[in-house]
Amino acid sequence: MAEHRNPDDITRREALGRAATLSAGAWAMGALPFLSRYGEVLRRDRPNILFIFSDDHAPHAISAYGSRINKTPNLDRIANEGAIFLNSFCTNSICAPSRAVVLTGKYSHVNGKIDNSGQPFDASQQTFNKVLRKAGYQTAMIGKWHLIVDPQGFDFWQILPGQGNYYNPDFLTPAGRTHVEGYVTEIITDVTLDWLRNGRDPSRPFLLMCQHKAPHRNWMPGPKQIHLYENEEIPEPPTLFDDWRGRASPASEQEMTVRHHLQPAYDLKITPPPGSPDAAGFAGYNRMTTEQKAMWDAVYEPRNAAFRAASPQGDDLVRWYYQRYIKDYLRCVAGVDESVGHVLDWLDEAGLAENTLVVYCSDQGFYLGDHGWFDKRWMYEESLRMPFLARWPARIRAGTRIPEMIQNIDYAPTFIEMADAPVPEDIQGTSLLHLMEGEQPAEWRDAIYYHYYEYPQPHRVAPHYGVRTERYKLIYYYLTGEWELFDLVEDPHELRSVYDEPNRAELVATLKVELRRLRARYHDETGTEFPEGT
Ligand code: CA
Repeated sequence: MAEHRNPDDITRREALGRAATLSAGAWAMGALPFLSRYGEVLRRDRPNILFIFSDDHAPHAISAYGSRINKTPNLDRIANEGAIFLNSFCTNSICAPSRAVVLTGKYSHVNGKIDNSGQPFDASQQTFNKVLRKAGYQTAMIGKWHLIVDPQGFDFWQILPGQGNYYNPDFLTPAGRTHVEGYVTEIITDVTLDWLRNGRDPSRPFLLMCQHKAPHRNWMPGPKQIHLYENEEIPEPPTLFDDWRGRASPASEQEMTVRHHLQPAYDLKITPPPGSPDAAGFAGYNRMTTEQKAMWDAVYEPRNAAFRAASPQGDDLVRWYYQRYIKDYLRCVAGVDESVGHVLDWLDEAGLAENTLVVYCSDQGFYLGDHGWFDKRWMYEESLRMPFLARWPARIRAGTRIPEMIQNIDYAPTFIEMADAPVPEDIQGTSLLHLMEGEQPAEWRDAIYYHYYEYPQPHRVAPHYGVRTERYKLIYYYLTGEWELFDLVEDPHELRSVYDEPNRAELVATLKVELRRLRARYHDETGTEFPEGT
């Protein structure tokens, strides 16, 4: 583990001496003097920023966040040696929009990328990596990009086309398309380490965005993790058999259930025996090499034979589907965790750990059988929450736990502030730097705003917007004019909307004022405005 800087180790005289010896070259390299909170003039090298991002990794599948279903020792290392944000949320729980929010620090209706399928992302707009690059950072983007258009503002990029593939993925680079044999999480790790070792100019700070495909659908584990959980039962979520009563109509009308909407071959890998007349693979399997298919079949066919023999029905079938789904999901997570461990080890070996900010997060949360679902999209907690772990030994005290509510609009201004560049005024988020350093800000938001758009396909989740405070959540489904109100203390699983209870009328009125204020504050005129006085 890296040594932590103790401010008392540097005397005022030494600090002033160091500041005085700063050369013009050091300024150009990113070393700037600054006043510490102790009033000392210190030399500060701007940190490297290693942004590790995954896809659909819910906080409740990270042990640092209290997972009941898995262990993530390397992600926990970031939390234990740095900070864990306990209330981290997205603004629009879906892949491409979340990425656009991260890059711009602006809500979907402002950056223009409101859903996965409609308008492409306008990559010519201001993004935080462009600001950092202008400020002297080297910038690299490796892995899942998912914004269709080519990245802009990166010195190096190698991205998966679209969703990418788990096995033998293609990559896009400025020089064209390449095909790489192997497992996607390991390949992204290798490219990341190769750029860190050989691809960069070590005299300048870097921003590296290492973005995994895993654990996105269809949850194909890598060869090193495929055997995990073989003879284990993963605990079921308490809401696996939710009937969606007590909520507005959209919860019943979605198409994202474990029971009915997971595809047997593609999602669950339930295929006829290899070599049988009706044998057929599925997307992802069919691009494997002969050796990879043999490895895969040797693992899944005995599992599938046991399934055929048992032939579970009804709720037992849901339970079996859940086990298959969640084990494959967690195997993919384990691959990401292992990758993070390799990268952290390399930072230690290279002597870069002390002044490198390592962030781990994912584009949104996910339903891990919660409410009987897979996928994301809703403002309900499981998909609203994003993991956000940050380690920077030079500035963040180990074991920092941060309860303030943050959102993905806050990342861009955080990284820009760390790079000592001015934060553009049109960015809608707020820098997290002072929270990370353990300061209690005099003012912080006490409510977050959310807006989801993509409808009807896929999954038929009705568009909605809403406000969440520390205790309450008010959601408006504007296609049907329905509301939900949840008391997160009395009802943490959000099983019973109390919107219509007479004794909540005053609370509803207060939250509607707050919701209208947030829509105005963030300039959101999309979606239907809710009527007065209802
Ligand atoms: Ca995603």
